[in-house]
Amino acid sequence: MGNTAVVVGAGIGGLAAAVGLRRVGWEVRVVERAPVLADAGAGISLAANGIRALDALGVGAAVRAAARGQYTGGTRTPGGSWLARMDGAALERALGTPIVGIPRAALHRLLRGALPPGVLTVGAEVTGLDRSAPDRVRVLLNGAPDGTGASMDADLVVAADGVHSRVRGLLLPSHPGPAYSGSTVFRAITDRPLDLRTDFEITWGRGAEFGHIAFADGRAEWHAVLNAPAGVRHADPLAELRGRFAGWHEPVARLLAATRPDAVLHHDVHELATPLPSFVTGRVALLGDAAHAMTPNLGQGACQALEDAVVLAAALADAADTGTALAAYDAQRRPRATSVATAARRAGRMGQRLSSPPAVALRNAALRMAPSGMAVRMILRHADWTAPRLPTPEAGERQSPVE
Ligand SMILES: Cc1cc2nc3c(=O)[nH]c(=O)nc-3n(C[C@H](O)[C@H](O)[C@H](O)COP(=O)(O)OP(=O)(O)OC[C@H]3O[C@@H](n4cnc5c(N)ncnc54)[C@H](O)[C@@H]3O)c2cc1C
Repeated sequence: MGNTAVVVGAGIGGLAAAVGLRRVGWEVRVVERAPVLADAGAGISLAANGIRALDALGVGAAVRAAARGQYTGGTRTPGGSWLARMDGAALERALGTPIVGIPRAALHRLLRGALPPGVLTVGAEVTGLDRSAPDRVRVLLNGAPDGTGASMDADLVVAADGVHSRVRGLLLPSHPGPAYSGSTVFRAITDRPLDLRTDFEITWGRGAEFGHIAFADGRAEWHAVLNAPAGVRHADPLAELRGRFAGWHEPVARLLAATRPDAVLHHDVHELATPLPSFVTGRVALLGDAAHAMTPNLGQGACQALEDAVVLAAALADAADTGTALAAYDAQRRPRATSVATAARRAGRMGQRLSSPPAVALRNAALRMAPSGMAVRMILRHADWTAPRLPTPEAGERQSPVE
C-alpha cells in the first residue's frame, strides 16, 4: 500500500498521530493553521491509558520525567470538607503509574521533538478535500508562508483538527456538529510556585467547580468551571472569579492571587453530543476531538486522542491494505471513545453541573458514604487500557525530545 499521510492539525492528537505513523514507516506531513505554535494552554492530567499510549509512541519516559505524579488530593466542598479522597499510590500499584500533571506546552514540545524538522508546516489551513481518486486524497490548503503549495496529495488523511473540525463537516455534512455543554471554563497556570498541601483537588459548589493540578516545578494550573450561557465574557475574568469563588476554602484565593490577569484563558466547552456514524470516510480518518470531543469531567479527551494515534498506527502496521486498517481503527476506537465520552458527560451532570441544593446535598451525602477506594475504581474503569505494540524505529530514525 502507498504510505504517505497528511495530518490536519498539530494539537496533541495530530502530533501523536504523526509520531505513530512515522514509527510504522509512513511518510508524514502535518499541516497546522496557526501561524506559530505558541506554547500556550494551561495544564493537563494524563491517566495510565494516555501514558501507555505515549510509551508506545516512544515519549512516555520524557513525559513522566517532566510531569508530577498526582498522589494526594480528591474532591471537596466549598467549605473545605472532603467528599472523596484519591489515593495516587493505590492507582500506581494497580496501573504502574498515578495520574500525572504536566503543562500542555511541555507535552506539546515533547511530541514535537519526536518529529524530524520539516514534518510540520504552520500557517497552512486546510480548506477542502478532493476525494475523487479512488485511493488518494488531495488536501486543499490556504498556502503556507514557507511556500507550501495550495494542495498536498496523500494515501491517507488524518483529520485531527479539533472539536470544530472543518474536515468532519466536509465528510459528514448531515451530522449536527458540536453542541455547547452548558459549562464555561477559565484556566491558568500560576506565575510562581505555591506551597500546596495536595497534588490535585476538585471542589464542587452549586453549578460550579474549582480545581488545581500541581506541576513538577511547584507552579500549578487551576480551572474554574461555571454553568453559564455560551458567549458570556468578562472585562476582568480574575476579578469575576475572585467574586464568584469568594469564601471557598484555601488554596482557591491563593491560586487566583498568584495568577497574572493576562494568563487567564476562557473557553466555552463544546462536545460531540451526537456520536459519529464512523471515524473513517474513504481514506480519511478522524482522530481526537474531531472524532469524539467530550466534556473534560474525566480528564480523558487527550488520553483518548493518544489512544487513537497508537491504534491507528498499529492497525496500519498490521493490515494488508489501508482500507482494512482504517476499518479496524474505526471498529476499535469508536465504541471505546463513545463510551468514555458518555461517562464524562454523566460525571459532569453528577459533579460540576449539579446545581439544585437538594440534589447537591444528596450527591454529597452519597459520596461521603461511599467506600474508600471508590475514586480509584472509577479511574481504573477508563484508564486500564493496554496499548498495542508499535515497532521500534531503526536507531538512525530515533528523535531526541527537545526541551
Ligand atoms: C477545560 C478542559 C480541560 C481538559 N483537561 C484534560 C485533561 O486533564 N486530560 C485529558 O486527557 N484531556 C483533557 N481535555 C481534553 C483535551 O484538551 C482535548 O481532548 C485534546 O486537547 C484534543 O486534542 P486534538 O489534537 O484532538 O484537538 P486540538 O487540541 O483542538 O487541536 C486541533 C488543531 O487543529 C488545528 N486546526 C483546526 N482546523 C484546522 C484546519 N482547517 N487546517 C489546519 N489546522 C487546523 C488547530 O489550530 C489545532 O492546533 C480538557 C479539555 C478542556 C476543554
